[in-house]
Amino acid sequence: MFANKTIAIIGGGTAGWMSAAWLQHHCDDTARILLIESDDIGTIGVGEGTTPHLSVFFDTLGIKEQTWMPACSATFKNGITFTNWTSRPTAPSYFHPFPSASDRYSAGFFLQAVEAMRKNVPIGPTLPDSYFLSWHLTQAAQSPRRIKTGANIPLSYAYHFDAGLLARFLREWCEQRGVIRYQGRITRVGQHENGQISAVYTNNIDSPINADFFIDCSGFRSLLAQQTLNTPFVSYADSLLNNAAIALPCEALSPLSPHTVSCAMPSGWRWQIPLQHRTGNGYVYSDSYISAEEAEQQLVQAVASKPLNQSPTHLTFRVGRLEKTWSENCLSVGLSQGFIEPLEATGLHLVLCTLSEFTAAMARCNESQQAMNTVNESISARFDGIKDYIVAHYLMSDRNDSEYWRAARSVTPSDTLQALLDCWHNGGNLITKIDKLGISQYYSVISWYCLLAGYDAFTQNKTHPRAPLQWQQLQEKLKSWQAHFLDHEEALNQFL
Ligand SMILES: Cc1cc2nc3c(=O)[nH]c(=O)nc-3n(C[C@H](O)[C@H](O)[C@H](O)COP(=O)(O)OP(=O)(O)OC[C@H]3O[C@@H](n4cnc5c(N)ncnc54)[C@H](O)[C@@H]3O)c2cc1C
Repeated sequence: MFANKTIAIIGGGTAGWMSAAWLQHHCDDTARILLIESDDIGTIGVGEGTTPHLSVFFDTLGIKEQTWMPACSATFKNGITFTNWTSRPTAPSYFHPFPSASDRYSAGFFLQAVEAMRKNVPIGPTLPDSYFLSWHLTQAAQSPRRIKTGANIPLSYAYHFDAGLLARFLREWCEQRGVIRYQGRITRVGQHENGQISAVYTNNIDSPINADFFIDCSGFRSLLAQQTLNTPFVSYADSLLNNAAIALPCEALSPLSPHTVSCAMPSGWRWQIPLQHRTGNGYVYSDSYISAEEAEQQLVQAVASKPLNQSPTHLTFRVGRLEKTWSENCLSVGLSQGFIEPLEATGLHLVLCTLSEFTAAMARCNESQQAMNTVNESISARFDGIKDYIVAHYLMSDRNDSEYWRAARSVTPSDTLQALLDCWHNGGNLITKIDKLGISQYYSVISWYCLLAGYDAFTQNKTHPRAPLQWQQLQEKLKSWQAHFLDHEEALNQFL
């Protein structure tokens, strides 16, 4: 791929250096990879949680956890705990696990319990938490590595890390392998007569930096795609209200709790992410409902450990995506290609999906229109699919205690999401519906059940007496199944 060609990556944030590393690994030896970043502009500096998919990035590049995790102050992430998203006393919080093959038996019981509740014949708990091994590990403050040797089924897990340290780590990795870095502010972008990009000009290098192909990782500025190629932007603002955030680093928590906490707030939600050297905290909110000062006050009051001696970072953002992530000879990756609010920590997930779709399409059909269409359709659909899942969090909440929540819960879902929610509320076959809608490639059937049951938003009335059925026996079976995998007996004592 890209034999004897030059690829210029614009931007050295996490997206820029991930792109450089990925391309360095996949391109022909004769390809030249350049990266241009500006120290004056800097990077956004947030983005500390991931999905399990990110392991594909490190595995493909052959970078071991033992190498990159300590360098990036990283911790394991077993899942996300959503708290205060509803006022329903039955579900003040729920744990969203990363289901693994080792959960296949207990996940089946979870689905049965949820289906029974949907039919108003409850047989057991319908919160996902204790059905999944990752919850037991989280409760016991254990890493997903605490799986019995010999169990031979790895647990699915994700990571938390310091995004700045990751960019630095990847820069060193890339430079050692021949990626050339330029430091300078791009002041002008040159184009060929046919509209393709030809070069970028910086404030400190006399000659233009020419390239055959460009990767736009310039963050929200979207220097090439939007500012130069005028690629249209598809806004999500009609269904996602948040447009601002504050990040407030605090002291590390002890013991480290291997999960992200996402706690609903009066005008948004806040994250708590445990890193080895500090805790990442932030408040994502809509500035139509709360001022930055009030949001900062609420965040400072809510954090669980002492803020570090540095000012909070205030950010604003725009939710949505480019109509085409690949236009002309330019692929956009990272915040330049779009942003869905960070509730499910999918920013870097989308970076990796874009890079892997791109290199796969290039390997199949090179720089052809067909490759471009494949990548554009697939990435747009993925953005929209993830957006729907995030919107569902707000629609399933019953919070009614502020203007913000009343507005967040009354947005109009996409047709796909509406069809799914109708099916849930009307007692239809959810598995078939998810299959028909073709959305399980973005969030699995289990993930949808976790979200829908996690909010305990069952339409049927729940006054029907609980039918114990054989639940006691099932419970025992489940416990022994999970004990088969967990190298931590105490964790299971909290079972159900
Ligand atoms: C509040 C918030 C929370 C988030 N949380 C998560 C999360 O938990 N998990 C997750 O995966 N993602 C998260 N994200 C997204 C994540 O931060 C980004 O996807 C990731 O950091 C990649 O950013 P980037 O590299 O695209 O942009 P940036 O970090 O902004 O980098 C842009 C680069 O372009 C360069 N640049 C720009 N203009 C010029 C110019 N004129 N000349 C030269 N260089 C230029 C800059 O110097 C910089 O190097 C979050 C985002 C926000 C806003």
